[in-house]
Amino acid sequence: SQDRVFNFAAGPANLPENVLKKAQSELYNWRGSGMSVMEMSHRGKEFSSIIQKAESDLRTLLNIPQEYSVLFLQGGATTQFAAIPLNLCKPDDKVDYLVTGSWGDKAFKEAQKYSKPKVIWSGKSEKYTKIPAFDALEQTPDAKYLHICANETIHGVEFKTYPTPKNGLLIADMSSNFCSKPVDVSKFGIIYAGAQKNVGPSGVTIVIIRKDLIGNAQEVTPVMLDYKIHDDNNSLYNTPPCYGIYMCGLVFEDLLEQGGLAGIEKKNKKKAELLYNAIDGSNGFYRCPVEKSVRSLMNVPFTLEKSELEAEFIKEAAKEKMVQLKGHRSVGGMRASIYNAMPLAGVEKLVAFMKDFQAKYA
Ligand code: PMP
Repeated sequence: SQDRVFNFAAGPANLPENVLKKAQSELYNWRGSGMSVMEMSHRGKEFSSIIQKAESDLRTLLNIPQEYSVLFLQGGATTQFAAIPLNLCKPDDKVDYLVTGSWGDKAFKEAQKYSKPKVIWSGKSEKYTKIPAFDALEQTPDAKYLHICANETIHGVEFKTYPTPKNGLLIADMSSNFCSKPVDVSKFGIIYAGAQKNVGPSGVTIVIIRKDLIGNAQEVTPVMLDYKIHDDNNSLYNTPPCYGIYMCGLVFEDLLEQGGLAGIEKKNKKKAELLYNAIDGSNGFYRCPVEKSVRSLMNVPFTLEKSELEAEFIKEAAKEKMVQLKGHRSVGGMRASIYNAMPLAGVEKLVAFMKDFQAKYA
């Protein structure tokens, strides 16, 4: 609508307009309950229906097998960097990490406190623009799991297929491509994601975990990080982020109404292709450093050949109501995050702007 901008932020990020409007219409008095979701007891029948429907819709969307639990937690994906080794390892257990960007690196560093992780491949020397060939990986034979970051939000590198870990346990941080495409959940031991990119507001962290992995946490594990506590209590051990879970539920409902994740992936591919084609077709005026086969459908980093024009690019784009295009402070340049909720019209407008900008300054 007229008063909204196209928000290319990496997260918190844009949410579907119809979801925001629905939340607005229910804010003051949720479905005749006489109160807003923010004011409800998390143990009352109203909120129970909200969290149960959110879980059941997510299960439908991702086709989550019965042997998996879905947990709605707090603390962001960052908390999971610690929770995963704490729940799956003894302090001396070996685990493998593929480091394809800053987030994989952070996960590895946190795991050092609670296990013996090894980086079996790092893209750092190539500025995190690649994903390795899986057959060349030297996995640790007795590693408890292999951890990947399925989509590196800062560097724009995305796994299109997944490596097979030696012992079968693959763990993935899907924070920035969660629900952006169908995923075969049965390939993973744990999938986890902060909600604030594709499915809701910050404050909710979703963990999908194979049930047989629950219940072996290290003694020192805080209750809030112990999957068994949350699983036994259906994510209601303590007060959960109720409003955030409600918002995620509205997004899941919306994704189902749109026909599910296969259709969403198609739309995401179309948007990303449009943008990457504009970059690649600019005769070097714009450049994306990421290897073509692993470019993210969600986060598109690019630079300007004339880097002195970057501030001007961002300023002029903002004047045309396209905001948050500045790249992450660690890499510079630009980054357009085009999650599920970014309409095709937003990407079309950005591409048209990029062409005009180039014509003006080339
Ligand atoms: N992993 C990835 C891939 C991310 O993009 C982010 C946040 N940008 C995080 C982890 C950290 O998430 P949080 O801020 O929810 O702790």
